[in-house]
Amino acid sequence: MGFPRLLIDLAKLETNARWVTDLCRRHGVSVFGVTKACCGDPEVGGAMLRGGVEGLADSRLINLRRLKEAGIKAPLLLLRSPMPSEIPAVVQLAGMSLNSDPGVIRELDRQARQQGVLHRAILMVDLGDLREGVWPDRVLELVREVHSLEEHARDYATGVRLAGLGTNFACFGGVVPSLPALGGLAELAGRCRREVGVDMPVLSGGNSTSLHLLAEGAWQPGINHLRVGESILLGYDLVSRRPFAGMHQDAFLLEAEVIETGRKPSVPTGEIGFDAFGNRPHFEDRGLRQRAIVALGKQDLGAGHVMPEEAGVEVVGASSDHLILDVTAAAGPVRVGDRLRFRPDYGAILGACTSPYVEKITF
Ligand SMILES: *Cc1c(COP(=O)(O)O)cnc(C)c1O
Repeated sequence: MGFPRLLIDLAKLETNARWVTDLCRRHGVSVFGVTKACCGDPEVGGAMLRGGVEGLADSRLINLRRLKEAGIKAPLLLLRSPMPSEIPAVVQLAGMSLNSDPGVIRELDRQARQQGVLHRAILMVDLGDLREGVWPDRVLELVREVHSLEEHARDYATGVRLAGLGTNFACFGGVVPSLPALGGLAELAGRCRREVGVDMPVLSGGNSTSLHLLAEGAWQPGINHLRVGESILLGYDLVSRRPFAGMHQDAFLLEAEVIETGRKPSVPTGEIGFDAFGNRPHFEDRGLRQRAIVALGKQDLGAGHVMPEEAGVEVVGASSDHLILDVTAAAGPVRVGDRLRFRPDYGAILGACTSPYVEKITF
């Protein structure tokens, strides 16, 4: 078996998913589990489904295809507004997609009719985070524009139906979900019903960051759907950055091998220019330190970070292929050939799952 490797504990993922779906069910919210950080890994998706999620969601079609080809029968949702070039495959693979462009919705309708299938489109509303979604003052206009498609879909069960409205938080602008924002989404759905005559059965109130409201016992009635990835994977409340009690924070562990150890100064020798990535590094002089290098780097971790499992081990930095550790305070000696374990953050899970250099082991 090769290193580095990513150990994925499916029983812990299932427990985490159940924790989330139980919490959501108490407020009438159904959950789609988001598999994109794991490239649509069917075993991760399977653990989420055993934990009670109603369907699986991913931002990439290739990942949805991977789930489908593994025999997963649960409803699939495409999270990213479809690329025009992939629309025929979208209606073939996903029963539902998040959308923000009327032209794309019309083309989804055309393709779905051609393939004789029903596709559900959730219209995304931007409540201020400034990533995807229609600005709220344009929602009714857009619903009017595409709702003529509705009648055909209702009568023939092919084409596009507007399944509801959705929103996203804390992805670009870092906007924290709030009851007033969710109230705004529910109110827009009411206006679609009263002023355009279109029902919005699904109101999708965001991602993992919305769990923080539910955990405090606060929720906006009518919001009945969430898309949850990171909190199931890592067991954290992403708003407070604290673990949710009863969830596992170590369902994912990265294991890497030590390739060098030794005592070195904590400040480089010579004039300091730029590092391998064009940044100008800064160093604090802590004198001579016991260091170790493990064979793990940015090519395995992407933009993510890892936290050593072992007490007294500190990450000093990483280049493409080397992770530099300060092991001065470690309980025992760290030797070449030792295998050290690290907890990856969301970015590092994404990086490790995407990297062909990391072996993935589910158990
Ligand atoms: C990634 C994504 C999610 C899931 O976000 P988490 O923070 O992992 O829960 C939900 N919705 C959309 C549109 C996404 O792109």
